[in-house]
Order: sequence, then C-alpha cells, then structure tokens
Amino acid sequence: PKTLRLILGDQLNQSHSWFEEKSDDHIYLMAEMRQETDYVNHHVQKVLAFFDSMRNFASEIETQGHQMRYFKLDDPKNPQDLEKLIQQLVNDEGIEKFEYQLPDEYRLDEQLRSICKNLKISTDSVDSEHFLTKRAFLEEFFKGKKTYLMESFYREMRKKYDILMDGKEPVEGKWNFDHENRSALKDSKLLKKPKTHPKDLSGLLEMLEKSGVKTIGKVDAENFPWPTSRKECLEVLNHFCEKLLVHFGDYQDALTTWDAFLFHSRLSFAMNSKMLSPLEVVQKVESYWEGHRKEISISQVEGFIRQIIGWREYMRGVYWAKMPDYAEMNFFGHDRKLPDWFWTGKNKMKCLSEAIGQSLDLAYAHHIQRLMVTGNFALLAGIHPDEIDKWYLGIYIDAIEWVEITNTRGMSQFADGGIVGTKPYVSSANYIKKQGNYCDHCAYNHKEKVGDKACPFNSLYWHFYERNREKLEKNPRIGMAYRTLDKLKNKKEILEQAEKFLDEIENL
Ligand code: FAD
Repeated sequence: PKTLRLILGDQLNQSHSWFEEKSDDHIYLMAEMRQETDYVNHHVQKVLAFFDSMRNFASEIETQGHQMRYFKLDDPKNPQDLEKLIQQLVNDEGIEKFEYQLPDEYRLDEQLRSICKNLKISTDSVDSEHFLTKRAFLEEFFKGKKTYLMESFYREMRKKYDILMDGKEPVEGKWNFDHENRSALKDSKLLKKPKTHPKDLSGLLEMLEKSGVKTIGKVDAENFPWPTSRKECLEVLNHFCEKLLVHFGDYQDALTTWDAFLFHSRLSFAMNSKMLSPLEVVQKVESYWEGHRKEISISQVEGFIRQIIGWREYMRGVYWAKMPDYAEMNFFGHDRKLPDWFWTGKNKMKCLSEAIGQSLDLAYAHHIQRLMVTGNFALLAGIHPDEIDKWYLGIYIDAIEWVEITNTRGMSQFADGGIVGTKPYVSSANYIKKQGNYCDHCAYNHKEKVGDKACPFNSLYWHFYERNREKLEKNPRIGMAYRTLDKLKNKKEILEQAEKFLDEIENL
C-alpha cells in the first residue's frame, strides 16, 4: 500500500531498515515544526543543530533515491499542526497507510497515538532501531525493586553485547574503574582543540528570527561548530578516539576555567539525534582501544563505555518505566524560583558563573558541571524541579526530555526520592575546590562557612540536610552527615548564614 512514513527530528538514523528498500510507494515526511521550537525556550544552537541536521538527512535520503517530502518552518504549505500536515499528505498523495518510528518522548508518543486514532487509514509504529534495549526492558529487569541499580543493568548490557568482555569475565578483571576517574587537571598543555565543523547557518538563523522563534544563548552562525551530518559526526568520533580517549576517564570529573570540553567526546547531540548509534560508538571505541592498549588504559575506555551503554540506556529505561508520573515528582517539596542569573550567568560565584556562562555561550556543559555545580546549587537552594527542568531542557544541545528529566529530576535533584540514585548528589565547596581551579578565582572563600565572604555552598549544604532531616536521616548512606552536622560548634550561625543567602539569592 502507498505508505506515509513520518521521521521526527531526532530520528536521523540512516541505517534504519526502512531505507533498505527503495519504493515509490513509500513517502517519507519530515517537517520543521513550531510545536518543537516552542515547547520550551531552546538554546539557539540547539534549534539550528536540529534543523540543519534534519535538512542534511532529508537530502541524503533523497539522493539515495527515496521519496522525501520536507516542510521547512516558513513553508506556506506547512500548516504548523502535525495532524493537519499528515492529513494533508494523506489526501494529496492518495496515502493508504501511515507509519511512524516510536518516539522517545512521552509527549510525542501520546500525540502520535491520538493522530492515528483520528486517521481513517491503517496505521503502524516501528522501533527506531537505535537503542540497545526495548522501551520496557529495564522495567522488567528490575521488576519489584524500589531502586534500579544502574550497575546491575550495565553489567547485563556488557554481557549481552559482548563489550569489554573476556569470555564471561570483564576484561582486565573488573567491571568498573570509576575510582580512577576523579582527578583534577593540573596541566593545561594536555588539552586538545575540539573537532569542529564551522559552517554558515546564518540563513537558517534568519528564518528562525523572521518566524519569531524565541531562543536563548549565543551563536556565531557563520561558524556554527556542531556536527550536523553523519559524516561530521563520524569525524568527531574519530577525533575522540585519536586525541581524547587517552585521558577521558582521568579528567572526566575535572572542573577548570581553562577549557569547556576537556576530554569529553561532544557526541551527545550526534547520538541523541540518532546520526550515530550507541552501539557503533562503543564498538568503535573498543576496537580503537584494542589497537592501542599500550597507550590507553582500561579505566579511560570503561569509563566512557559505561556512560553510553550504562547510564544513557538506563535513563531511557527509567523514563519509560516511570512516565508520566516522573515529571511531577518533587520528593523534597522544593518550591523556590530559579534565580534570574541562571539565564545570564551574572553571579559572583565563579563556579556558577563559569558553568552557566559557558552553557549560554556553547549550549554545552560537561556532566560534573551539570551535576555538581548548577544542579548541586539548585538542590541545596531548594529550587522547584519544574523550574530546573525547564532550564536544563532548553539550554543544552543534547537536551531531549527522556534523558534530560531523568538526569535532572532523578540523578541531580533526587526529586524521584531515590529511583535513579541511592542518595542526593550534594556537596559543599570542598568538592568543587578539589576538582579544579574555580575557587581560586572566586569572590567567595571556599574555606569559610559563615560571613558575607563565605562560599554559599558551605552553609547551604548543611541547611539542606537540616531542613530535610526527616526524609534523609534514616538513609544508611547519609547518617554520617547528620552526625557531623550535630557536632558542629557553630551550627546555629551556619544555618542562619544559609537563610541569609537564600533571602538574597538573586544577588549572590
Ligand atoms: P561525554 O562525557 O563524552 O560522555 C559520552 C556520552 O555518554 C555522552 O555523549 C552521553 O551520550 C552519555 N552520557 C554520559 N553521562 C550520561 C548520563 N548521565 N545520562 C545519559 N547519558 C550520559 N545528557 C543528554 O544527552 N541530554 C541531556 O539533556 C542531559 N541532561 C543532563 C542534566 C543533568 C542535570 C545532568 C547531571 C546530566 C545530563 N546529561 C544529559 C548527561 C551528560 O551530562 C551529558 O550526556 C554529557 O555532558 C554530554 O557531553 P559529551 O557528549 O561530551 O559527554
């Protein structure tokens, strides 16, 4: 039957079995939609990256001989209503069947189901053929358990896909080398320039502006840096193997004013848009390592692979196991507004101004900046998880709800009460100081707990524990913190200091 096949903006998987066969009876549909540019205020680089990648994908698919119908944002024939657009094509092209790839977002899943209900032709959905597991795998794997232990899931993936395995045992005798992945970077000479693909997207930017799409952040549209085609994504992957893998694990958690990307891969957008598959990324990295075992230690490689077949895949499983309730969870009942300076970076705390400023400039921050700087602060200050989600979902090049919300509400804010993590990720200035040079350039003193110059992280840290005593004290992994808190000589002053900072949060 003549079939209309919808491809969403994050389904740019050229290896999908849909494309194995060429047929004039298969019409592919892609569209730049206001519903996608407007569901949250996105970083301008994120919108540009998605639209440019979609256009490149569509033209490659067309070049291969497939029938593509592509609707730009400002195309007068684009009704800016997905259901109407599909209906319009069904009518105009005599379509007898509608098919779509299962989306990764709950919002779109619901919308497409409802569209199918209203269509008078037959409909079907197929797998997006990207992830290593099916949507429901994780839920079944952890059936009956309150906490979903990532490590057990990760080991299952290693075995199932024979990655870093030596028969039935993990290669080099250990599953996890996380303890070796925690150094601060001491020598800026080790740093490498990121592999960028400067291209002129000013035409696309102009279209967004003329259409009135509201965005956040900065861009040099004439030298747009992110990879937007499969070829470019593969080059970023090669660059990672050749130049960055050697130190990936060592400096994974480092915080420094010297550089934004350090030894991180910058591959999250390439994978989340599905231009690269997670399996091809880890297999490429594993085989590169096999050829360079003398120079590259297992801890670098294992650390990287764990992020992808472990954390990334796991977060997706949690999302499908727990949505839609997950989006409402607020374990601590936090309700403070996000300070305005999250949208400007103008803040006297060097760690926050660096992490936020860099996010606004580059649409990028690495994991520890997201978790232990911005996320840590938001949790200690008791910001409402909705406010935090809106920020994280907008600002990063890789932010798509399935992986954003599980990381933000779950891992970073513990708003799920302990599904993703066994305890909240919070720290005082001590951790940030240990991981790099932020504190050396700060207006506040990382050693002080009390006084106008004391680093706010220090008093807020204890304030967080004190105000959530009832919810946390019984957690065996946290008891120690309460014993320390109750022994603090100036506990009262510290808690008052925290209150003062919270009252003046906009001026920190
Ligand atoms: P690298 O450090 O090179 O890691 C390699 C890959 O591992 C990444 O590309 C990513 O695909 C995967 N990965 C690493 N950590 C995680 C993780 N915790 N969860 C899922 N995948 C992971 N990642 C997103 O892709 N989208 C998001 O919206 C997002 N929001 C986050 C919000 C918070 C509060 C936190 C703490 C983390 C978030 N992450 C998110 C995870 C992680 O920070 C980014 O994947 C990573 O910084 C992307 O940069 P990179 O490609 O250079 O990563």
